[in-house]
Amino acid sequence: MRKVEDECVSCGLPCLGNNCPNAKVIRYYCDECKSEFEADELYVNDDEEELCENCLKDRFKTVAQLESEGAYDD
Ligand SMILES: [Zn+2]
Ligand SMILES: [Zn+2]
Repeated sequence: MRKVEDECVSCGLPCLGNNCPNAKVIRYYCDECKSEFEADELYVNDDEEELCENCLKDRFKTVAQLESEGAYDD
């Protein structure tokens, strides 16, 4: 997910408002593990979930895993 965070830490007392460089910081989080990632590290699926590489991989099995489960008995 994409979140806009207000990370102002009393920059100008009073805050510079729209000019405050920390007022609108865009952060990206994995929808599964909720960890923070860069925008180019998150993958979007058909349900518009935004997942990190690890969580994405957890959703899938490798061919070797399928074979060991007997998925290919030909
Ligand atoms: Zn500020
Ligand atoms: Zn994740």
